[in-house]
Amino acid sequence: MKIYKSILFIIIVPFLIVLKAQPETWKREKHDGYKLFYTTQDSESKREYLLYIERGIDSVRKFFGSEFKKEFEIYVHPNRKSLDEQWRKDWNMPDFKSECWMVASGVASKLDMLSPLQWAKESCEHDYADKLKTQQIIAHELVHVFHGQLNVSPDFSDVTNLDWFVEGLATYASGQLDKVRISEISETISGNKAPNSLDNFWTGKLKYGFSGSIVMYIEQKYGRRKLIELLKFNKKDEILNSLNTTEMDLLNGWKKYFVKSN
Ligand SMILES: [Zn+2]
Repeated sequence: MKIYKSILFIIIVPFLIVLKAQPETWKREKHDGYKLFYTTQDSESKREYLLYIERGIDSVRKFFGSEFKKEFEIYVHPNRKSLDEQWRKDWNMPDFKSECWMVASGVASKLDMLSPLQWAKESCEHDYADKLKTQQIIAHELVHVFHGQLNVSPDFSDVTNLDWFVEGLATYASGQLDKVRISEISETISGNKAPNSLDNFWTGKLKYGFSGSIVMYIEQKYGRRKLIELLKFNKKDEILNSLNTTEMDLLNGWKKYFVKSN
């Protein structure tokens, strides 16, 4: 009897260890232009996610006036642990721990997101029930995907002083630069509290407003076609050169535009 027990132990324990070490089992689904990966937890909500994804893809296509250049993958992570593990690996930052407001990321080849079912528990600032904002978050990440596919650094790992443009473009093109954000920016400019360098735009509480509004200003001044031409650059100076302007002039024009127009 004892020997049987030992044998059972020898068989079962390694089996359990292997089972525990297994990463999440991803279900995989092929769609037009992308593959969707998700886990059992999200099986029921998947249909709803697909609506957001399809609408997001459509809005990005319309904004830029062209198709995505390549297929990409979308991962709906079952929890923040899974998302953080992915980010640590992708960004080569073994100690990385995400902030609660970070729920998704996008590069040329893929979009990673925290399951919206976990947003209430594992994130701050985001409410899946707010359909407009949820749609804009998905569109925001899809803009990153589109942008990465045209950028010389597809995963944005080799971009210099460009947070304001990468995040600003995604904020603006996804519709996240709403009236509330625009009026916050106008007030900040009027109160002489606007940042004096583009490098500081994607920081602090108003980062979406600052970055999105400077990209909006570029479009207003130079046109959508010119804005799209900027997607390939990975350095701030290349963008300024292409616009034939200086950082100071761009910022002054931006300030005037938002103080005057609001
Ligand atoms: Zn972003």
